Amino acid sequence: MKKNIDQLKMRRETKFEFSEILEDIRIEEAEVSKVHVDYLIELVEDEVIIRGEYTAFIKTNCVRCLEELEIKVSGEFFGDYKESKGYNEYIDTLGKEAQVSDDMVEELVDGEVDISSLVRDYIILEMPQFPACEPECGGLEELEKYRDSGIDSRWQKLLDLKN
Ligand SMILES: [Zn+2]
Repeated sequence: MKKNIDQLKMRRETKFEFSEILEDIRIEEAEVSKVHVDYLIELVEDEVIIRGEYTAFIKTNCVRCLEELEIKVSGEFFGDYKESKGYNEYIDTLGKEAQVSDDMVEELVDGEVDISSLVRDYIILEMPQFPACEPECGGLEELEKYRDSGIDSRWQKLLDLKN
């Protein structure tokens, strides 16, 4: 979802509060069913500061037993955007002192801020790398064991020897 900052500027206010549902967030190998966001947009001279909270519900699969599961990911997000002129000046000063990769400020493109793309980056960072249906999930191996009600007779003999 894109927010038109130029339109906000015409409202002669500097702080805007939003509570929205984002429906255009796509993440590989997971299905984002719903993302709720509460945030504040603040206009400070040529800068746009965004801070807020998100709660996302994501459908994915347990890495152990492959069962489908829905996980909830939530946290805060923050964005700092500058108009092109101010952004370029900012990059110039950075060039002298630091790497651009440390850069936390983004350029305001066409007077718009893409809230979905901002929040998406935070969701990806916060998503569990190895989601599990439950902390003790024994995974496929354990399921197999229950499935054929015991141990293969050929292995049973080996186990008997071992004990
Ligand atoms: Zn599982």
